[in-house]
Amino acid sequence: MAKEGDTQFTFPGPTRETVVLDWTGLTALAPPVDCHVHLALDGVDFAAARRRWDTPGEITSQVQNALQDTLRHGILAVRDGGDRAGIALRFRNLVTGGAMAGPVVRAAGFALRKPGKYGSFLGRGITAGELDSALDNLVRHGVNQVKVIVSGVVSFTDYGRVGALQYTAGELATLVKGAHNRGLPVMAHASSDAAVAMAVRAGVDTVEHGYFLTRNTLELMAEKGIAWVPTVIPVAAQLHNRAGNGTDLAQPYVIEKTVDRQLAMINEAVALGVTLGVGTDAGAAGVRHGYGYLEEMALYRQAGLSPAQILQCATVNGARILGLDWGRIEPGRPAALIALKGDPLQEIDALRNVQYVIVP
Ligand SMILES: [Zn+2]
Repeated sequence: MAKEGDTQFTFPGPTRETVVLDWTGLTALAPPVDCHVHLALDGVDFAAARRRWDTPGEITSQVQNALQDTLRHGILAVRDGGDRAGIALRFRNLVTGGAMAGPVVRAAGFALRKPGKYGSFLGRGITAGELDSALDNLVRHGVNQVKVIVSGVVSFTDYGRVGALQYTAGELATLVKGAHNRGLPVMAHASSDAAVAMAVRAGVDTVEHGYFLTRNTLELMAEKGIAWVPTVIPVAAQLHNRAGNGTDLAQPYVIEKTVDRQLAMINEAVALGVTLGVGTDAGAAGVRHGYGYLEEMALYRQAGLSPAQILQCATVNGARILGLDWGRIEPGRPAALIALKGDPLQEIDALRNVQYVIVP
């Protein structure tokens, strides 16, 4: 609520005032959710973003911009996949406390990864023997979920190549059990079918990326109720070479083939009844917060999903993956709602025209 004399528009904030909004001609919609972002990065320049981590004023305006761009696109909740400095977690606390405007933020804090393997910007290396105390540390920090790095990343130059596995199957299973015992769901960064299958057998709650997974693994995910966040845009964006730094080494045909395979598996996942979320990996090279979401949805359309199916992934499935209780709108209950011009059931691109957002 704005205090007297405030010139700043404070948002969101509790209000008991009745506000009348004229939504004539607009479509009201449950809010889209971005299931995978990195608020500590901006998707423009990785090195510059990392340098801002050490300068409070600069990182604050970077994250503020990211949160505003997210809201402007009608995305009312994001799930952050972690950063080594715990930046997303800090800004989650500011947003949750009402000190900063933004969508609902769910944060993993820092990611769990093996020393010497991929992901140094996501978290420091943690040996199998240190996992228990690392989980306790995450609980002390009040994270919403645990992020574990199961494999490296997808190659942009050699089709089908993925960075090495990190924890063993046994270590991963112990980690997942430890997280669940502490009441925390687990999001697993995993590409290659071996990595995804290992994560699925270990009982993680969501598979992130999941490049090169097979139909068998998807069937197992459907059976176990494990959701998939396929993050196509961070790979597809390499085609446009927007990142500039080093990714000019990407081979266009490798990128195209990798994206095509992922789109085919997305189509198959829906047919098999796998819960599919929409996640952009915003902050990754070439993926800006908010903007990347429209591109990710366009890719789902390219995969053959109908606008209704994409909206189901973006809204209902997203809320479920984040554990948000956003199902009902009734007096006295905080509502999460957006209004836009056009009919997104006819054309998913209508999400470009968000007019109002109501953040719970
Ligand atoms: Zn990520």
